[in-house]
Amino acid sequence: MNLLIIGSGGREHALAWKLSQSEKLSNLYIAPGNAGTSAHGKNLNIHVSDFENLKSAVLEHNINMVIVGPEVPLVEGIHDYFATQESLKDVSIIGPKKLAATLEGSKDFAKEFMMRHNIPTAKYQSFDANSVDDGMKFLETMESPYVLKADGLAAGKGVLILEDLEEAKNELKSMLLESKFGIASSTVVVEEFLDGIELSCFVLTDGENYKVLPFAKDYKRIGEGDTGLNTGGMGAISPVPFVDSSFKKKIEETIVKPTIEGLKKDNIPYQGFIFIGLIKVGAQPKVIEYNVRMGDPETEVVIPRIKNDLVEILNAVSNKTLNEIELEIDSRTAATVIAVSGGYPESYEKGKQMTGLDQVSESLIFHAGTKIQDGILITNGGRVIAMTSYGQEHSEALQKSYKSLEKISFEAMNYRKDIGFDL
Ligand code: ATP
Repeated sequence: MNLLIIGSGGREHALAWKLSQSEKLSNLYIAPGNAGTSAHGKNLNIHVSDFENLKSAVLEHNINMVIVGPEVPLVEGIHDYFATQESLKDVSIIGPKKLAATLEGSKDFAKEFMMRHNIPTAKYQSFDANSVDDGMKFLETMESPYVLKADGLAAGKGVLILEDLEEAKNELKSMLLESKFGIASSTVVVEEFLDGIELSCFVLTDGENYKVLPFAKDYKRIGEGDTGLNTGGMGAISPVPFVDSSFKKKIEETIVKPTIEGLKKDNIPYQGFIFIGLIKVGAQPKVIEYNVRMGDPETEVVIPRIKNDLVEILNAVSNKTLNEIELEIDSRTAATVIAVSGGYPESYEKGKQMTGLDQVSESLIFHAGTKIQDGILITNGGRVIAMTSYGQEHSEALQKSYKSLEKISFEAMNYRKDIGFDL
């Protein structure tokens, strides 16, 4: 089979690494990819939202299956576009159509879905420019801290958690009336603050059947002790020690099954990954958010723990035979630590030469913001590489990743030294 992965991060490198191990694979392409993905296939210099050129590449290279990594092309309707092209009718796509992708693209849509299907989540109400006064009144009925969420995609920046009622009211006005987050905040979800520990649940579905993939926990903040600005993610661990079999069962019964059943009841076809952002409040799991793709950096610890042939699994997704697959999961822990460019997530420089990667033997290096220029490996983004290691315990896996990170360098390289500190 010929496969195309869309995206350019550590997630896509981890997928490329895994897919390239399959005997069923003939040729692998990655658009646009990074320096790491080029070791497993051919990078194609096409933007993730450039559907026409992606179509041409699929036809030119006889691609049988497209795996969509990031949310933007899904929310923009890449699957719908491909489905309307006669010449692409035999090409399978892993990733939902636009309607299902609204679960990530609109927080209001996701909350309504959860309410309709009785899926545990924070209490909420949504407001727009015509209901600002109602929003103010609703805030007065809530307790501090106040959670305000821009409805649309805002690159992880559209959620505000505020202690002070007056500040929350001002921010709500600014989101609704002054387009604080552009069109993304023309509707705002105001919700109850949930106090607990977060974790990520990944589900793969063919629309009928589903498989729960290994759980993971990521570390979003730039600073140690989970402080400072939010990032795309600074590290991740799988499995999650506090997810025991009874908690897993609760998640599956109260969240995963109702989600898959809800999609069916609502006539929302879905073939692909669902990432359910959860929070454990007391002993209960609740949904914080849905994403319609794998997480990054969680993919860099989840995929290395799956022993099955990933091409076979994805074929089962497109043939709706996922029920015939028995997942085999590596019992070891996988941990990843992300090395970022100094200054990230604010301004940072690119183009720094990276050295020492060939010295790393105990870890898997997944590239994110990297490229090769004139034969030299350089940085090309905020998050640069994910250093993933296995261990019997998470402490052993982390130790290996930290030891490997000491071997590599680039100017102003930064990483958190405390991934897994709370486990
Ligand atoms: P991401 O960057 O993960 O895509 P997002 O911008 O889509 O995030 P959410 O995941 O809904 O938005 O919220 C971002 C973060 O805000 C969550 O990971 C969580 O830490 C916090 N958060 C969101 N909702 C709540 C809530 N109701 N109670 C407590 N914390 C919350």
